[in-house]
Amino acid sequence: MTQIIAMANQKGGVGKTTTSVNLAASLGAAEKKVLLIDMDPQANATSGIGLTETVSEQKTVYEVLLGEQNINACILKAKTPFVWALPATSDLAGFEVEAVDLQDREFLLHKALQNLDKDFDYILIDCPPSLSLITINALVAAKDVLVPLQAEYYALEGLSRLTETIELVQENLNPRLNIKGIVLTMFDKRNNLCHQVETEINTHFPNLVWETKIPRNVRLSEAPSFGQPIIQYDITSVGSQSYLALAAECIEQYKSKEIETPTTSDKINTQRV
Ligand code: ATP
Ligand code: MG
Repeated sequence: MTQIIAMANQKGGVGKTTTSVNLAASLGAAEKKVLLIDMDPQANATSGIGLTETVSEQKTVYEVLLGEQNINACILKAKTPFVWALPATSDLAGFEVEAVDLQDREFLLHKALQNLDKDFDYILIDCPPSLSLITINALVAAKDVLVPLQAEYYALEGLSRLTETIELVQENLNPRLNIKGIVLTMFDKRNNLCHQVETEINTHFPNLVWETKIPRNVRLSEAPSFGQPIIQYDITSVGSQSYLALAAECIEQYKSKEIETPTTSDKINTQRV
Protein backbone atom coordinates (compact mmCIF):
# COMPACT_ATOMS: atom_id res chain seq x y z
CA MET A 1 0.00 0.00 0.00
CA THR A 2 1.23 3.47 -0.88
CA GLN A 3 1.29 5.97 2.00
CA ILE A 4 0.61 9.47 0.71
CA ILE A 5 1.78 12.17 3.12
CA ALA A 6 1.38 15.93 2.69
CA MET A 7 3.96 18.07 4.48
CA ALA A 8 1.82 21.05 5.39
CA ASN A 9 2.00 24.19 7.49
CA GLN A 10 1.05 27.53 5.99
CA LYS A 11 3.69 29.18 8.09
CA GLY A 12 6.84 29.88 6.07
CA GLY A 13 10.28 28.55 6.87
CA VAL A 14 9.30 25.91 9.42
CA GLY A 15 11.10 23.03 7.73
CA LYS A 16 8.52 21.56 5.33
CA THR A 17 10.95 21.26 2.44
CA THR A 18 13.92 20.20 4.57
CA THR A 19 11.73 17.47 6.06
CA SER A 20 10.25 16.40 2.70
CA VAL A 21 13.66 16.07 1.03
CA ASN A 22 15.48 14.45 3.94
CA LEU A 23 12.69 12.14 5.01
CA ALA A 24 12.40 11.03 1.37
CA ALA A 25 16.14 10.32 1.17
CA SER A 26 16.17 8.57 4.56
CA LEU A 27 13.19 6.37 3.66
CA GLY A 28 15.09 5.61 0.45
CA ALA A 29 18.08 4.58 2.56
CA ALA A 30 15.75 2.02 4.18
CA GLU A 31 15.01 0.77 0.64
CA LYS A 32 11.50 2.22 0.59
CA LYS A 33 10.49 3.48 -2.84
CA VAL A 34 9.64 7.16 -2.50
CA LEU A 35 8.09 9.72 -4.80
CA LEU A 36 8.76 13.30 -3.73
CA ILE A 37 6.23 15.74 -5.21
CA ASP A 38 7.17 19.40 -5.28
CA MET A 39 3.96 21.42 -4.96
CA ASP A 40 5.65 24.73 -4.24
CA PRO A 41 6.44 27.33 -6.94
CA GLN A 42 9.60 28.13 -4.95
CA ALA A 43 10.73 24.67 -6.21
CA ASN A 44 13.01 24.17 -3.21
CA ALA A 45 12.35 20.44 -3.01
CA THR A 46 13.33 20.09 -6.68
CA SER A 47 16.65 21.84 -6.06
CA GLY A 48 17.16 20.21 -2.65
CA ILE A 49 17.00 16.74 -4.19
CA GLY A 50 19.41 17.86 -6.92
CA LEU A 51 17.13 17.99 -9.95
CA THR A 52 17.11 21.66 -10.95
CA GLU A 53 19.49 20.98 -13.87
CA THR A 54 17.54 17.94 -15.03
CA VAL A 55 14.03 19.41 -15.13
CA SER A 56 12.70 19.94 -18.61
CA GLU A 57 10.48 23.01 -18.80
CA GLN A 58 7.31 21.39 -20.07
CA LYS A 59 7.46 18.32 -17.84
CA THR A 60 6.66 19.43 -14.33
CA VAL A 61 3.90 19.03 -11.79
CA TYR A 62 2.26 22.14 -13.30
CA GLU A 63 1.58 20.43 -16.66
CA VAL A 64 0.49 17.27 -14.82
CA LEU A 65 -2.07 19.21 -12.76
CA LEU A 66 -3.45 20.94 -15.83
CA GLY A 67 -3.73 17.64 -17.69
CA GLU A 68 -1.17 18.61 -20.32
CA GLN A 69 1.29 15.84 -19.44
CA ASN A 70 1.05 12.27 -18.22
CA ILE A 71 2.47 12.03 -14.70
CA ASN A 72 4.73 9.09 -15.62
CA ALA A 73 6.46 11.16 -18.30
CA CYS A 74 7.38 13.84 -15.76
CA ILE A 75 8.83 11.73 -12.95
CA LEU A 76 12.60 11.96 -12.64
CA LYS A 77 14.96 9.59 -10.84
CA ALA A 78 16.91 11.43 -8.17
CA LYS A 79 20.56 10.49 -7.56
CA THR A 80 19.49 9.36 -4.10
CA PRO A 81 18.74 5.60 -4.05
CA PHE A 82 15.06 4.62 -4.19
CA VAL A 83 13.91 8.24 -4.61
CA TRP A 84 12.02 9.68 -7.58
CA ALA A 85 10.58 13.17 -7.89
CA LEU A 86 7.86 15.05 -9.67
CA PRO A 87 9.57 18.43 -10.00
CA ALA A 88 8.25 21.98 -10.03
CA THR A 89 9.41 25.26 -11.48
CA SER A 90 8.24 28.78 -10.75
CA ASP A 91 5.61 28.24 -13.50
CA LEU A 92 3.55 26.54 -10.81
CA ALA A 93 2.76 30.03 -9.47
CA GLY A 94 0.36 30.39 -12.41
CA PHE A 95 -1.65 27.34 -11.38
CA GLU A 96 -4.04 29.16 -9.05
CA VAL A 97 -5.17 31.41 -11.90
CA GLU A 98 -5.13 28.73 -14.62
CA ALA A 99 -7.23 26.34 -12.55
CA VAL A 100 -9.97 28.76 -11.56
CA ASP A 101 -12.34 27.63 -14.29
CA LEU A 102 -11.42 23.95 -14.22
CA GLN A 103 -13.93 21.41 -13.02
CA ASP A 104 -12.94 19.41 -9.94
CA ARG A 105 -9.95 21.68 -9.51
CA GLU A 106 -9.33 20.38 -5.99
CA PHE A 107 -8.92 16.82 -7.30
CA LEU A 108 -6.30 17.41 -10.02
CA LEU A 109 -3.37 15.90 -8.10
CA HIS A 110 -5.52 13.09 -6.75
CA LYS A 111 -6.58 12.16 -10.29
CA ALA A 112 -3.04 12.37 -11.64
CA LEU A 113 -1.83 9.95 -8.95
CA GLN A 114 -4.38 7.37 -10.10
CA ASN A 115 -2.39 7.13 -13.36
CA LEU A 116 0.94 6.27 -11.74
CA ASP A 117 2.52 3.23 -13.41
CA LYS A 118 5.13 2.67 -10.72
CA ASP A 119 4.42 1.43 -7.21
CA PHE A 120 5.77 3.59 -4.44
CA ASP A 121 5.87 2.84 -0.72
CA TYR A 122 5.64 6.52 0.17
CA ILE A 123 4.59 9.63 -1.71
CA LEU A 124 5.71 12.80 0.09
CA ILE A 125 4.14 16.08 -1.01
CA ASP A 126 5.98 19.31 -0.19
CA CYS A 127 3.38 22.08 0.20
CA PRO A 128 3.84 25.83 -0.18
CA PRO A 129 3.46 28.20 2.78
CA SER A 130 -0.21 28.97 2.13
CA LEU A 131 -3.62 27.35 2.34
CA SER A 132 -4.12 27.85 -1.38
CA LEU A 133 -5.63 25.61 -4.06
CA ILE A 134 -2.20 23.97 -4.40
CA THR A 135 -2.26 22.93 -0.74
CA ILE A 136 -5.89 21.82 -1.02
CA ASN A 137 -4.89 19.60 -3.96
CA ALA A 138 -2.17 18.08 -1.77
CA LEU A 139 -4.61 17.50 1.11
CA VAL A 140 -7.17 15.90 -1.21
CA ALA A 141 -4.56 13.59 -2.75
CA ALA A 142 -3.01 12.65 0.60
CA LYS A 143 -4.04 10.13 3.18
CA ASP A 144 -2.09 11.78 5.95
CA VAL A 145 -0.69 15.15 6.94
CA LEU A 146 2.62 15.58 8.69
CA VAL A 147 3.00 19.05 10.20
CA PRO A 148 6.54 20.36 10.58
CA LEU A 149 6.50 22.84 13.45
CA GLN A 150 9.32 25.07 14.56
CA ALA A 151 9.58 25.02 18.34
CA GLU A 152 9.33 28.75 18.96
CA TYR A 153 7.08 31.18 20.76
CA TYR A 154 4.57 31.66 17.94
CA ALA A 155 4.56 28.02 16.86
CA LEU A 156 0.90 27.44 17.65
CA GLU A 157 -0.29 30.64 16.06
CA GLY A 158 -2.10 29.83 12.86
CA LEU A 159 -2.22 26.11 13.61
CA SER A 160 -5.97 26.33 14.20
CA ARG A 161 -6.40 27.63 10.64
CA LEU A 162 -4.49 24.62 9.39
CA THR A 163 -6.58 22.19 11.43
CA GLU A 164 -9.79 23.94 10.33
CA THR A 165 -8.73 23.63 6.71
CA ILE A 166 -7.94 19.97 7.24
CA GLU A 167 -11.38 19.45 8.81
CA LEU A 168 -13.06 21.22 5.90
CA VAL A 169 -11.21 18.99 3.45
CA GLN A 170 -12.24 15.95 5.52
CA GLU A 171 -15.89 16.98 5.49
CA ASN A 172 -16.15 17.99 1.87
CA LEU A 173 -13.40 16.52 -0.25
CA ASN A 174 -11.37 13.75 1.40
CA PRO A 175 -12.96 11.98 4.38
CA ARG A 176 -9.96 9.68 4.90
CA LEU A 177 -7.54 12.54 5.57
CA ASN A 178 -5.78 12.28 8.91
CA ILE A 179 -3.17 14.22 10.83
CA LYS A 180 -0.44 11.64 11.22
CA GLY A 181 1.87 13.71 13.32
CA ILE A 182 3.71 16.86 14.22
CA VAL A 183 7.45 17.00 13.75
CA LEU A 184 9.30 19.55 15.84
CA THR A 185 12.04 21.17 13.79
CA MET A 186 15.02 23.35 14.61
CA PHE A 187 14.67 22.06 18.15
CA ASP A 188 17.27 23.15 20.70
CA LYS A 189 17.09 20.85 23.69
CA ARG A 190 19.12 23.29 25.84
CA ASN A 191 16.55 26.00 25.26
CA ASN A 192 13.77 26.07 27.85
CA LEU A 193 11.38 27.73 25.43
CA CYS A 194 11.58 24.73 23.10
CA HIS A 195 10.48 22.45 25.95
CA GLN A 196 7.66 24.83 26.93
CA VAL A 197 6.44 24.87 23.33
CA GLU A 198 6.63 21.09 23.23
CA THR A 199 4.54 20.82 26.43
CA GLU A 200 1.96 23.22 25.05
CA ILE A 201 1.70 21.38 21.75
CA ASN A 202 1.34 18.09 23.62
CA THR A 203 -1.56 19.60 25.56
CA HIS A 204 -3.38 20.71 22.43
CA PHE A 205 -2.47 17.72 20.28
CA PRO A 206 -2.04 14.72 22.59
CA ASN A 207 -0.11 11.81 21.11
CA LEU A 208 0.52 13.60 17.85
CA VAL A 209 4.04 14.92 18.38
CA TRP A 210 6.55 12.45 17.00
CA GLU A 211 9.35 11.35 19.28
CA THR A 212 12.12 12.33 16.89
CA LYS A 213 12.90 16.02 17.09
CA ILE A 214 15.01 17.65 14.41
CA PRO A 215 17.72 19.82 15.98
CA ARG A 216 19.01 23.00 14.43
CA ASN A 217 22.05 21.86 12.47
CA VAL A 218 24.08 24.02 10.14
CA ARG A 219 24.86 21.05 7.83
CA LEU A 220 21.09 20.76 7.16
CA SER A 221 21.00 24.35 5.94
CA GLU A 222 24.12 23.92 3.80
CA ALA A 223 23.07 20.72 2.02
CA PRO A 224 20.40 22.27 -0.32
CA SER A 225 22.94 24.54 -2.00
CA PHE A 226 24.76 21.38 -3.11
CA GLY A 227 21.52 19.78 -4.30
CA GLN A 228 22.04 16.95 -1.84
CA PRO A 229 19.96 15.49 0.95
CA ILE A 230 21.78 15.52 4.26
CA ILE A 231 22.62 11.81 4.21
CA GLN A 232 24.61 12.40 1.01
CA TYR A 233 26.08 15.72 2.03
CA ASP A 234 27.28 14.67 5.49
CA ILE A 235 26.24 11.29 6.81
CA THR A 236 28.07 11.92 10.08
CA SER A 237 26.07 15.05 10.94
CA VAL A 238 23.48 15.30 13.68
CA GLY A 239 21.03 16.31 10.93
CA SER A 240 21.60 12.97 9.15
CA GLN A 241 21.12 11.00 12.35
CA SER A 242 17.90 12.82 13.14
CA TYR A 243 16.32 12.36 9.70
CA LEU A 244 17.34 8.68 9.63
CA ALA A 245 15.66 8.36 13.05
CA LEU A 246 12.59 10.17 11.71
CA ALA A 247 12.40 7.73 8.79
CA ALA A 248 12.61 4.78 11.19
CA GLU A 249 9.83 6.31 13.31
CA CYS A 250 7.75 6.93 10.18
CA ILE A 251 8.09 3.28 9.10
CA GLU A 252 7.18 2.19 12.63
CA GLN A 253 4.15 4.51 12.73
CA TYR A 254 2.75 2.92 9.60
CA LYS A 255 3.47 -0.57 10.86
CA SER A 256 1.75 -0.09 14.19
CA LYS A 257 -1.11 2.16 13.14
CA GLU A 258 -2.14 0.32 9.99
CA ILE A 259 -4.64 -1.61 12.09
CA GLU A 260 -6.51 1.36 13.45
CA THR A 261 -6.00 5.05 12.78
CA PRO A 262 -8.21 7.43 14.76
CA THR A 263 -9.65 10.31 12.76
CA THR A 264 -8.29 13.80 13.23
CA SER A 265 -11.41 14.98 15.04
CA ASP A 266 -10.97 12.21 17.62
CA LYS A 267 -7.52 13.44 18.39
CA ILE A 268 -7.53 17.18 18.41
CA ASN A 269 -9.43 19.91 20.06
CA THR A 270 -9.15 22.90 17.78
CA GLN A 271 -11.28 25.02 20.10
CA ARG A 272 -8.43 25.25 22.54
CA VAL A 273 -5.76 26.34 20.07
P1 ATP B 1 8.70 27.60 2.97
O1 ATP B 1 7.51 27.85 3.81
O2 ATP B 1 9.32 28.87 2.43
O3 ATP B 1 8.47 26.58 1.92
P2 ATP B 1 9.82 25.54 4.59
O4 ATP B 1 8.78 25.37 5.61
O5 ATP B 1 9.85 24.57 3.47
O6 ATP B 1 9.81 27.03 3.99
P3 ATP B 1 12.61 25.04 4.83
O7 ATP B 1 12.89 25.64 3.49
O8 ATP B 1 12.71 23.57 4.95
O9 ATP B 1 11.21 25.54 5.37
O10 ATP B 1 13.56 25.68 5.93
C1 ATP B 1 13.68 27.09 6.08
C2 ATP B 1 15.16 27.46 6.25
O11 ATP B 1 15.63 26.89 7.45
C3 ATP B 1 16.04 26.91 5.15
O12 ATP B 1 17.07 27.83 4.90
C4 ATP B 1 16.61 25.63 5.73
O13 ATP B 1 17.87 25.31 5.19
C5 ATP B 1 16.70 25.99 7.19
N1 ATP B 1 16.49 24.82 8.05
C6 ATP B 1 15.44 23.99 8.07
N2 ATP B 1 15.55 23.04 9.01
C7 ATP B 1 16.74 23.29 9.62
C8 ATP B 1 17.45 22.69 10.71
N3 ATP B 1 16.95 21.63 11.35
N4 ATP B 1 18.63 23.22 11.05
C9 ATP B 1 19.14 24.30 10.43
N5 ATP B 1 18.54 24.91 9.41
C10 ATP B 1 17.34 24.43 9.01
MG1 MG C 1 9.39 24.91 1.44
